Amino acid sequence: MAAISKQILYKNILKHLKTNPYGLSSTDLARNLNINRMTLVKYLNIMQANGLIEYRNIGMAKVWHITSKYDLINSILRGESAPIQAIIAGQHIKIRNEMGDMIPLSLFRVIKAALSLSKNPSKTQYEAGQLVAKNSIYVNQDLNAESAIKTLARVFIGLRLGIILPLQVSPSFWVLKLNESATSHGTGVKGNSLCHFEAGVISGIISKSLGINAVVKETKCIGTNHHHCEFAVKFTKK
Ligand SMILES: [Zn+2]
Repeated sequence: MAAISKQILYKNILKHLKTNPYGLSSTDLARNLNINRMTLVKYLNIMQANGLIEYRNIGMAKVWHITSKYDLINSILRGESAPIQAIIAGQHIKIRNEMGDMIPLSLFRVIKAALSLSKNPSKTQYEAGQLVAKNSIYVNQDLNAESAIKTLARVFIGLRLGIILPLQVSPSFWVLKLNESATSHGTGVKGNSLCHFEAGVISGIISKSLGINAVVKETKCIGTNHHHCEFAVKFTKK
């Protein structure tokens, strides 16, 4: 495949995955892009190796989604060829250490206020996260669990907080995985669970979506030497 069509293919794959933050199977992607699935898989694997996309297994299918390398992904979507040339050349791409330019100012302000005013920073960050979620125009009420998780994934992408994936969903208990948490990923800070704000956002979105009280606790964190963060969600009556 010529270099130029490779670039267009990379771009189109990212475009499709970006508009489907919950993910697409390689079969769906091949159909949407109208290309051979075996050819597609070759490029998906290269993009995965470069940290642009990743997958989870659902039954026999691999469901692909973008990672939170937003700046890199956006520069590819804008048509800049340098990042793709780097990928083709096999150069190392740095893990992100910025939020990027689309993060709402209100989000920064609420975190800053929470940190400076609080005697109990973890609780205050959690509550700030709940507040952000409850005021989000993207969260609708009366949704089922599946829709609530899709909303959660979309809001996390929109706020650039990381990539949310459900590991376990039962009527009374959920486990959610968070990849590349905005709070902990790449910070090098170790020793504690760090993502109280993210836990609060999860709590707020689920509580608002389902109209029940969701209590969220971080059970694994990059800050406690795990590769990703994990959150346990329990439900109590309001
Ligand atoms: Zn964490």
